[in-house]
Amino acid sequence: MTDPAAGVAGTGPDEADWAAAVAAVRDLPADAQVQLICHVNPDGDALGSMLGFGLGLRQLGVRQLRATFPGPPEVPEPFRALPGLDLLVAEQDAYPAPDLVVCFDAASESRLGGLVDRLATAGTALVLDHHASNTMFGGINLVDPRAAATSVVAEELLARLGVRLDAGIAEGLYVALTTDTGSFRFEATTPAVHELAARLLATGIRPGDISRRVFDTRPFGAVRLFGEVMCRARLEPAAAGGNGLVWTYATLDDLARHDQRPYVLEALIDSVRCTAEADVSCVVKQVRPDEWAVSMRSKGAVDVSRVAVALGGGGHKFAAGFTGRGSADDVVASIRAELDKALIGA
Ligand code: 5GP
Ligand code: MN
Repeated sequence: MTDPAAGVAGTGPDEADWAAAVAAVRDLPADAQVQLICHVNPDGDALGSMLGFGLGLRQLGVRQLRATFPGPPEVPEPFRALPGLDLLVAEQDAYPAPDLVVCFDAASESRLGGLVDRLATAGTALVLDHHASNTMFGGINLVDPRAAATSVVAEELLARLGVRLDAGIAEGLYVALTTDTGSFRFEATTPAVHELAARLLATGIRPGDISRRVFDTRPFGAVRLFGEVMCRARLEPAAAGGNGLVWTYATLDDLARHDQRPYVLEALIDSVRCTAEADVSCVVKQVRPDEWAVSMRSKGAVDVSRVAVALGGGGHKFAAGFTGRGSADDVVASIRAELDKALIGA
Protein backbone atom coordinates (compact mmCIF):
# COMPACT_ATOMS: atom_id res chain seq x y z
CA MET A 1 0.00 0.00 0.00
CA THR A 2 1.76 3.19 -1.12
CA ASP A 3 -0.70 5.62 0.41
CA PRO A 4 -0.55 5.42 4.21
CA ALA A 5 -3.80 7.35 4.62
CA ALA A 6 -5.62 4.69 2.65
CA GLY A 7 -4.49 2.18 5.30
CA VAL A 8 -4.71 -1.55 4.84
CA ALA A 9 -8.22 -2.09 6.13
CA GLY A 10 -9.59 -2.33 2.60
CA THR A 11 -13.31 -2.76 2.26
CA GLY A 12 -13.91 -4.50 5.57
CA PRO A 13 -13.95 -8.03 6.96
CA ASP A 14 -14.80 -10.96 4.68
CA GLU A 15 -16.72 -14.09 5.69
CA ALA A 16 -13.49 -15.86 6.68
CA ASP A 17 -12.67 -13.03 9.10
CA TRP A 18 -16.14 -13.20 10.66
CA ALA A 19 -15.96 -16.98 10.93
CA ALA A 20 -12.55 -16.79 12.62
CA ALA A 21 -13.83 -14.21 15.10
CA VAL A 22 -16.94 -16.26 15.91
CA ALA A 23 -14.79 -19.38 16.41
CA ALA A 24 -12.34 -17.49 18.63
CA VAL A 25 -15.20 -16.75 21.04
CA ARG A 26 -17.24 -19.95 20.65
CA ASP A 27 -14.25 -22.25 21.11
CA LEU A 28 -13.08 -20.64 24.34
CA PRO A 29 -12.70 -23.16 27.15
CA ALA A 30 -15.19 -22.83 30.02
CA ASP A 31 -12.56 -21.31 32.33
CA ALA A 32 -11.16 -18.95 29.70
CA GLN A 33 -9.83 -15.53 30.63
CA VAL A 34 -10.93 -12.78 28.27
CA GLN A 35 -9.36 -9.32 28.34
CA LEU A 36 -11.04 -6.39 26.61
CA ILE A 37 -8.93 -3.31 25.82
CA CYS A 38 -9.95 0.01 24.29
CA HIS A 39 -7.76 2.91 23.22
CA VAL A 40 -5.99 5.38 25.48
CA ASN A 41 -8.04 8.41 26.49
CA PRO A 42 -11.23 6.49 25.68
CA ASP A 43 -14.19 8.17 24.01
CA GLY A 44 -17.79 7.04 23.75
CA ASP A 45 -17.14 4.58 20.95
CA ALA A 46 -14.14 3.01 22.70
CA LEU A 47 -15.88 2.57 26.08
CA GLY A 48 -19.38 1.96 24.76
CA SER A 49 -18.32 -0.73 22.27
CA MET A 50 -16.08 -2.43 24.79
CA LEU A 51 -18.59 -2.53 27.64
CA GLY A 52 -21.54 -3.39 25.38
CA PHE A 53 -19.56 -6.24 23.85
CA GLY A 54 -18.39 -7.31 27.32
CA LEU A 55 -21.98 -7.60 28.54
CA GLY A 56 -22.71 -9.68 25.44
CA LEU A 57 -19.85 -12.06 26.31
CA ARG A 58 -21.19 -12.27 29.87
CA GLN A 59 -24.58 -13.29 28.43
CA LEU A 60 -22.75 -16.07 26.58
CA GLY A 61 -21.39 -17.34 29.89
CA VAL A 62 -17.86 -15.91 29.86
CA ARG A 63 -17.08 -15.52 33.56
CA GLN A 64 -13.44 -14.45 33.71
CA LEU A 65 -13.86 -11.20 31.88
CA ARG A 66 -12.06 -7.89 32.41
CA ALA A 67 -12.07 -4.60 30.53
CA THR A 68 -9.41 -1.90 30.68
CA PHE A 69 -7.60 0.91 28.87
CA PRO A 70 -4.09 2.33 29.17
CA GLY A 71 -3.40 5.23 31.50
CA PRO A 72 -5.11 6.40 34.67
CA PRO A 73 -8.23 4.27 35.34
CA GLU A 74 -10.48 7.31 35.35
CA VAL A 75 -13.74 7.13 33.39
CA PRO A 76 -14.79 10.55 32.05
CA GLU A 77 -17.90 11.83 33.82
CA PRO A 78 -20.18 11.53 30.74
CA PHE A 79 -19.61 7.75 30.72
CA ARG A 80 -19.92 7.02 34.44
CA ALA A 81 -23.43 5.63 34.14
CA LEU A 82 -22.60 3.12 31.38
CA PRO A 83 -23.81 -0.41 32.08
CA GLY A 84 -20.94 -2.87 32.48
CA LEU A 85 -18.56 -0.52 34.31
CA ASP A 86 -18.09 -3.32 36.85
CA LEU A 87 -16.02 -5.07 34.16
CA LEU A 88 -13.41 -2.28 34.27
CA VAL A 89 -10.10 -2.84 36.02
CA ALA A 90 -6.97 -0.68 36.19
CA GLU A 91 -4.33 -1.32 33.55
CA GLN A 92 -2.08 -3.17 36.01
CA ASP A 93 -4.92 -5.57 36.91
CA ALA A 94 -5.50 -6.74 33.34
CA TYR A 95 -4.97 -10.50 32.81
CA PRO A 96 -1.25 -10.95 32.02
CA ALA A 97 -1.82 -13.76 29.49
CA PRO A 98 -5.52 -14.05 28.61
CA ASP A 99 -6.89 -16.75 26.31
CA LEU A 100 -8.45 -14.00 24.20
CA VAL A 101 -7.79 -10.28 23.98
CA VAL A 102 -10.25 -8.06 22.13
CA CYS A 103 -9.23 -4.50 21.15
CA PHE A 104 -11.80 -1.77 20.48
CA ASP A 105 -11.59 1.38 18.35
CA ALA A 106 -7.77 1.37 18.30
CA ALA A 107 -6.31 2.13 14.87
CA SER A 108 -2.81 1.00 15.82
CA GLU A 109 -0.87 -0.75 18.56
CA SER A 110 0.39 2.59 19.84
CA ARG A 111 -3.15 3.39 21.00
CA LEU A 112 -2.90 0.49 23.51
CA GLY A 113 -0.06 2.11 25.50
CA GLY A 114 1.51 -0.26 28.02
CA LEU A 115 -1.09 -2.96 27.27
CA VAL A 116 0.39 -3.61 23.84
CA ASP A 117 2.27 -6.71 25.14
CA ARG A 118 -1.08 -8.53 25.52
CA LEU A 119 -1.17 -8.87 21.74
CA ALA A 120 1.76 -11.28 22.15
CA THR A 121 0.85 -12.94 25.48
CA ALA A 122 -2.82 -13.62 24.59
CA GLY A 123 -3.84 -16.89 22.96
CA THR A 124 -5.74 -14.94 20.28
CA ALA A 125 -5.82 -11.21 19.54
CA LEU A 126 -9.04 -9.96 17.97
CA VAL A 127 -9.26 -6.37 16.71
CA LEU A 128 -12.63 -4.59 16.28
CA ASP A 129 -12.30 -1.22 14.60
CA HIS A 130 -13.45 1.11 11.82
CA HIS A 131 -10.43 3.32 11.08
CA ALA A 132 -9.22 3.28 7.48
CA SER A 133 -5.75 3.87 8.92
CA ASN A 134 -5.93 0.63 10.98
CA THR A 135 -2.63 -1.24 10.78
CA MET A 136 -4.32 -4.67 11.11
CA PHE A 137 -2.29 -5.51 14.21
CA GLY A 138 -4.47 -8.39 15.45
CA GLY A 139 -4.38 -12.09 14.69
CA ILE A 140 -8.00 -11.64 13.57
CA ASN A 141 -9.02 -8.21 12.29
CA LEU A 142 -12.63 -7.10 12.04
CA VAL A 143 -11.90 -3.65 10.64
CA ASP A 144 -14.58 -1.99 8.56
CA PRO A 145 -13.71 1.53 7.40
CA ARG A 146 -17.27 1.98 6.14
CA ALA A 147 -18.71 1.39 9.62
CA ALA A 148 -19.83 4.57 11.37
CA ALA A 149 -18.49 3.33 14.69
CA THR A 150 -16.68 0.37 16.19
CA SER A 151 -20.00 -0.50 17.84
CA VAL A 152 -21.42 -1.33 14.38
CA VAL A 153 -18.78 -4.05 14.05
CA ALA A 154 -19.29 -5.15 17.68
CA GLU A 155 -23.04 -5.52 17.20
CA GLU A 156 -22.61 -7.62 14.09
CA LEU A 157 -20.23 -9.97 15.89
CA LEU A 158 -22.62 -10.23 18.86
CA ALA A 159 -25.46 -11.07 16.44
CA ARG A 160 -23.35 -13.74 14.74
CA LEU A 161 -22.59 -15.17 18.20
CA GLY A 162 -26.32 -15.42 18.91
CA VAL A 163 -26.35 -12.77 21.63
CA ARG A 164 -29.76 -11.21 22.29
CA LEU A 165 -29.57 -7.42 22.63
CA ASP A 166 -30.69 -6.26 26.07
CA ALA A 167 -30.83 -2.73 27.49
CA GLY A 168 -27.40 -3.02 29.11
CA ILE A 169 -25.66 -4.08 25.91
CA ALA A 170 -27.69 -1.61 23.88
CA GLU A 171 -26.82 1.44 25.96
CA GLY A 172 -23.08 1.02 25.43
CA LEU A 173 -23.50 0.40 21.70
CA TYR A 174 -25.88 3.38 21.41
CA VAL A 175 -23.50 5.74 23.22
CA ALA A 176 -20.78 4.56 20.84
CA LEU A 177 -22.96 5.07 17.77
CA THR A 178 -24.20 8.54 18.73
CA THR A 179 -20.70 9.68 19.73
CA ASP A 180 -19.06 8.71 16.45
CA THR A 181 -21.88 9.88 14.17
CA GLY A 182 -22.22 13.23 15.95
CA SER A 183 -25.73 12.15 16.94
CA PHE A 184 -26.53 10.93 13.41
CA ARG A 185 -25.30 14.10 11.70
CA PHE A 186 -22.16 12.85 9.96
CA GLU A 187 -21.72 11.38 6.49
CA ALA A 188 -21.36 7.81 7.77
CA THR A 189 -25.00 7.91 8.96
CA THR A 190 -26.40 5.32 6.55
CA PRO A 191 -29.80 3.63 6.59
CA ALA A 192 -28.05 0.71 8.31
CA VAL A 193 -26.94 3.06 11.10
CA HIS A 194 -30.55 4.09 11.74
CA GLU A 195 -31.64 0.45 11.58
CA LEU A 196 -29.06 -0.40 14.22
CA ALA A 197 -30.23 2.56 16.32
CA ALA A 198 -33.78 1.23 16.00
CA ARG A 199 -32.73 -2.23 17.23
CA LEU A 200 -30.91 -0.64 20.17
CA LEU A 201 -33.83 1.67 21.09
CA ALA A 202 -36.22 -1.27 20.90
CA THR A 203 -34.57 -2.66 24.06
CA GLY A 204 -36.13 0.23 25.98
CA ILE A 205 -33.09 2.46 26.51
CA ARG A 206 -33.88 6.17 26.92
CA PRO A 207 -32.16 8.32 24.26
CA GLY A 208 -33.05 11.64 25.91
CA ASP A 209 -31.48 10.70 29.24
CA ILE A 210 -28.45 9.14 27.59
CA SER A 211 -27.78 12.12 25.29
CA ARG A 212 -28.16 14.63 28.08
CA ARG A 213 -25.67 12.71 30.20
CA VAL A 214 -23.17 12.13 27.40
CA PHE A 215 -23.36 15.36 25.36
CA ASP A 216 -25.24 18.06 27.21
CA THR A 217 -23.93 18.10 30.75
CA ARG A 218 -20.76 19.79 31.92
CA PRO A 219 -19.57 21.66 35.01
CA PHE A 220 -19.97 25.45 35.11
CA GLY A 221 -16.17 25.75 35.25
CA ALA A 222 -16.02 24.03 31.86
CA VAL A 223 -18.50 26.54 30.43
CA ARG A 224 -16.21 29.42 31.56
CA LEU A 225 -13.13 27.59 30.31
CA PHE A 226 -14.77 27.12 26.90
CA GLY A 227 -15.46 30.86 26.78
CA GLU A 228 -11.78 31.68 27.24
CA VAL A 229 -10.52 29.07 24.81
CA MET A 230 -13.06 30.08 22.14
CA CYS A 231 -11.99 33.73 22.48
CA ARG A 232 -8.47 32.84 21.39
CA ALA A 233 -9.52 30.93 18.26
CA ARG A 234 -7.68 32.02 15.11
CA LEU A 235 -8.99 31.95 11.56
CA GLU A 236 -6.44 31.51 8.74
CA PRO A 237 -8.38 31.81 5.45
CA ALA A 238 -5.29 31.16 3.28
CA ALA A 239 -4.38 27.89 5.00
CA ALA A 240 -5.20 24.44 3.57
CA GLY A 241 -4.81 25.70 0.02
CA GLY A 242 -7.24 28.56 0.62
CA ASN A 243 -9.94 26.34 2.16
CA GLY A 244 -9.28 27.89 5.55
CA LEU A 245 -8.13 26.70 8.96
CA VAL A 246 -9.60 27.63 12.33
CA TRP A 247 -7.76 26.59 15.46
CA THR A 248 -7.43 27.14 19.16
CA TYR A 249 -5.54 25.61 22.06
CA ALA A 250 -6.03 24.81 25.74
CA THR A 251 -3.26 24.43 28.29
CA LEU A 252 -2.88 22.49 31.53
CA ASP A 253 -2.92 25.89 33.25
CA ASP A 254 -6.34 26.65 31.69
CA LEU A 255 -7.65 23.39 33.13
CA ALA A 256 -6.12 24.10 36.55
CA ARG A 257 -7.45 27.68 36.71
CA HIS A 258 -10.98 26.43 36.12
CA ASP A 259 -10.47 23.27 38.18
CA GLN A 260 -11.44 21.03 35.24
CA ARG A 261 -10.47 17.53 34.11
CA PRO A 262 -9.02 17.06 30.59
CA TYR A 263 -12.08 15.20 29.27
CA VAL A 264 -14.11 18.43 29.23
CA LEU A 265 -11.92 19.62 26.32
CA GLU A 266 -13.16 16.80 24.05
CA ALA A 267 -16.31 18.76 23.23
CA LEU A 268 -14.38 21.91 22.24
CA ILE A 269 -13.81 20.83 18.66
CA ASP A 270 -17.58 20.82 18.07
CA SER A 271 -17.79 24.50 18.98
CA VAL A 272 -14.81 25.40 16.77
CA ARG A 273 -15.64 23.32 13.69
CA CYS A 274 -18.86 25.22 12.93
CA THR A 275 -16.78 28.15 11.59
CA ALA A 276 -18.18 28.82 8.11
CA GLU A 277 -14.94 30.31 6.75
CA ALA A 278 -12.78 27.25 7.40
CA ASP A 279 -12.82 23.74 5.93
CA VAL A 280 -10.42 22.46 8.58
CA SER A 281 -10.70 22.96 12.32
CA CYS A 282 -8.30 21.99 14.99
CA VAL A 283 -7.99 22.02 18.80
CA VAL A 284 -4.57 21.57 20.38
CA LYS A 285 -4.86 20.26 23.95
CA GLN A 286 -1.87 20.20 26.28
CA VAL A 287 -1.44 16.86 28.03
CA ARG A 288 2.12 17.42 29.35
CA PRO A 289 4.38 20.51 29.28
CA ASP A 290 5.78 19.47 25.90
CA GLU A 291 2.98 17.25 24.55
CA TRP A 292 -0.37 18.04 22.93
CA ALA A 293 -3.35 15.91 21.91
CA VAL A 294 -4.61 17.27 18.61
CA SER A 295 -8.18 16.96 17.29
CA MET A 296 -8.82 17.82 13.64
CA ARG A 297 -12.03 17.99 11.63
CA SER A 298 -12.70 18.61 7.94
CA LYS A 299 -15.80 19.50 5.97
CA GLY A 300 -14.55 17.59 2.97
CA ALA A 301 -11.96 19.58 1.00
CA VAL A 302 -9.12 18.08 3.00
CA ASP A 303 -8.59 14.50 4.17
CA VAL A 304 -7.40 15.19 7.73
CA SER A 305 -6.45 11.55 8.31
CA ARG A 306 -3.57 12.15 5.86
CA VAL A 307 -2.35 15.01 8.02
CA ALA A 308 -2.74 12.92 11.17
CA VAL A 309 -0.99 9.86 9.74
CA ALA A 310 1.87 12.04 8.42
CA LEU A 311 2.28 13.42 11.95
CA GLY A 312 2.19 10.02 13.64
CA GLY A 313 -1.53 9.70 14.41
CA GLY A 314 -4.59 8.41 12.61
CA GLY A 315 -8.32 8.68 12.15
CA HIS A 316 -10.81 9.25 9.37
CA LYS A 317 -11.18 11.64 6.41
CA PHE A 318 -13.41 14.03 8.36
CA ALA A 319 -12.03 13.47 11.90
CA ALA A 320 -8.50 12.62 12.90
CA GLY A 321 -5.89 13.28 15.54
CA PHE A 322 -2.30 12.86 16.64
CA THR A 323 0.09 13.64 19.48
CA GLY A 324 2.17 16.77 18.88
CA ARG A 325 5.42 17.87 20.57
CA GLY A 326 6.96 21.25 21.30
CA SER A 327 4.91 24.42 21.74
CA ALA A 328 1.32 24.88 20.57
CA ASP A 329 2.68 27.11 17.79
CA ASP A 330 5.10 24.34 16.71
CA VAL A 331 2.21 21.89 16.52
CA VAL A 332 0.03 24.24 14.47
CA ALA A 333 2.96 24.98 12.15
CA SER A 334 3.35 21.23 11.50
CA ILE A 335 -0.37 20.98 10.70
CA ARG A 336 -0.23 23.98 8.32
CA ALA A 337 2.64 22.37 6.44
CA GLU A 338 0.89 18.99 6.07
CA LEU A 339 -2.50 20.50 5.19
CA ASP A 340 -1.36 21.75 1.83
CA LYS A 341 -0.21 18.22 0.91
CA ALA A 342 -3.49 16.65 1.98
CA LEU A 343 -5.95 18.42 -0.31
CA ILE A 344 -8.36 15.89 -1.70
CA GLY A 345 -7.60 15.24 -5.34
CA ALA A 346 -4.31 17.11 -5.00
P1 5GP B 1 -10.81 13.00 18.45
O1 5GP B 1 -10.42 14.29 17.84
O2 5GP B 1 -12.29 12.89 18.63
O3 5GP B 1 -10.02 12.68 19.66
O4 5GP B 1 -10.42 11.88 17.40
C1 5GP B 1 -10.85 11.90 16.09
C2 5GP B 1 -10.40 10.66 15.40
O5 5GP B 1 -8.98 10.63 15.31
C3 5GP B 1 -10.77 9.38 16.11
O6 5GP B 1 -11.13 8.45 15.13
C4 5GP B 1 -9.53 8.95 16.83
O7 5GP B 1 -9.45 7.57 16.93
C5 5GP B 1 -8.43 9.51 15.95
N1 5GP B 1 -7.30 9.93 16.77
C6 5GP B 1 -7.30 10.97 17.65
N2 5GP B 1 -6.10 11.10 18.23
C7 5GP B 1 -5.31 10.12 17.72
C8 5GP B 1 -3.94 9.72 17.92
O8 5GP B 1 -3.18 10.31 18.71
N3 5GP B 1 -3.52 8.64 17.20
C9 5GP B 1 -4.32 7.98 16.33
N4 5GP B 1 -3.82 6.92 15.69
N5 5GP B 1 -5.59 8.33 16.11
C10 5GP B 1 -6.10 9.39 16.78
MN1 MN C 1 -14.66 5.11 16.77
